[in-house]
Amino acid sequence: MIIMKFGGTSVGDADRIANVANIVKSNVKRNPVVVVSAVTKITDALIRLGKESAQGKGHETLEHIRKTHFEIIERLGMGKELLKEDLNELESLADQIRSSKGINEKTLDQIQSFGERMSSKIIASQLNKIGIKSQSFDSWQLGFLTNEEFGEAEPLDASYANLNKNIKKLDIVPVITGFIGKTEKGEITTLGRGGSDYTAAIIGAAAGADEIQIWTDVNGVMSTDPKIVANARTLEKVSFAEASELAYFGARVLHPKTILPAMKKNIPVKVLNSFNPENEGTVIVNMPYRDNNAVKAIAHKKNIALVNIDSTRMLGAYGFLARLFGIFDKYRKSIDVVSTSEVSVSLTIDSEENIGSILQELKEIADVELIRNKAIICIVGEGMRKTPGIAGRTFTALGKSKINVEMISQGASEINITFIVDSKDAEKAVRVLHEEYFGV
Ligand code: ASP
Ligand code: MG
Repeated sequence: MIIMKFGGTSVGDADRIANVANIVKSNVKRNPVVVVSAVTKITDALIRLGKESAQGKGHETLEHIRKTHFEIIERLGMGKELLKEDLNELESLADQIRSSKGINEKTLDQIQSFGERMSSKIIASQLNKIGIKSQSFDSWQLGFLTNEEFGEAEPLDASYANLNKNIKKLDIVPVITGFIGKTEKGEITTLGRGGSDYTAAIIGAAAGADEIQIWTDVNGVMSTDPKIVANARTLEKVSFAEASELAYFGARVLHPKTILPAMKKNIPVKVLNSFNPENEGTVIVNMPYRDNNAVKAIAHKKNIALVNIDSTRMLGAYGFLARLFGIFDKYRKSIDVVSTSEVSVSLTIDSEENIGSILQELKEIADVELIRNKAIICIVGEGMRKTPGIAGRTFTALGKSKINVEMISQGASEINITFIVDSKDAEKAVRVLHEEYFGV
């Protein structure tokens, strides 16, 4: 059995949905279990509808949501009754929010659930139309239960056994809602934005799938950003650790957390392109995997700010770093790259929210400097762990191209080297390194 998860852009319109159904059909021998996202941008529209309704508005947004779905089902030759119940229920919920003049985390999750509830019905219906016996399910109908962390819910342990049992019983192709679940009390929850991947991994782990396929709109994980290097290539296989390092850089890899349930069970996760189904995509596996290239990918991220913190008080003292990070913690500010010497710490942040207050508190314990317009460059590869000379090769290539490197950090796993350059040098650095390690 395989899990086939289709994201929002893969089900963006009638043609895309017809295409998805054909992709499922061509895999029918592998017993697919389909997991779907809402039609593209619908989750955003539903959130907007909730917020507008709380202010007594939202009629146009509701109309937009209705129209988007009706256009799809009309083009696919389906009757409007397919979504009638959901749309009526959505309308009553919007009315209820309007009359109570407020939206809370529970109603916000409830309203978001309609995207997946409707897309799953459309896709199951399309599958039936092309001769694949199929049925749509709201995840809870198959026992997907979560805790009560609305907006960021986690599955309850019981979900795994429930899903396994209920899915095994089916003799049709199920199309299951991603992203949403229910608490034991029966209240609808969401797993957080982009949560359908997480649903797919959970269901795959629960049912012991052979493979989890994440169908998206890119050719898997690439060696670098193809907008910068035309010859960027799709990586055939990456390890979970590599994928995790790359995730931060928006390399369009999955969020590592979302595929953890699959990794724990050693189920490979394949990233595929529904716009280009012939492409082999990238498989993410739990085990460290090396190919001939020590460096497998080069990622970058611009608009980074560097915070340099200097203090002689740090010398030989304990507790200084704890205090320093405590300040970031207080403002819930995520730190990305860190490098430290005995008397100075450099770290990067990718948003400047609360930075004024943070700097002010830091200044009480150290000299502080904020430097904007930086970029992080990261080279990643399992093979780097045991290959000597990668750092030398990397910085020599950059030095020859007159690119100044500012802060260098290597994580404990030794599968990455991360450093900072000026934003204006970022693209050049990526090109130089891609050429160095891939020859193009
Ligand atoms: N529809 C949800 C979102 O847009 C979940 C997902 O697409 O994975 O965040
Ligand atoms: Mg999505």
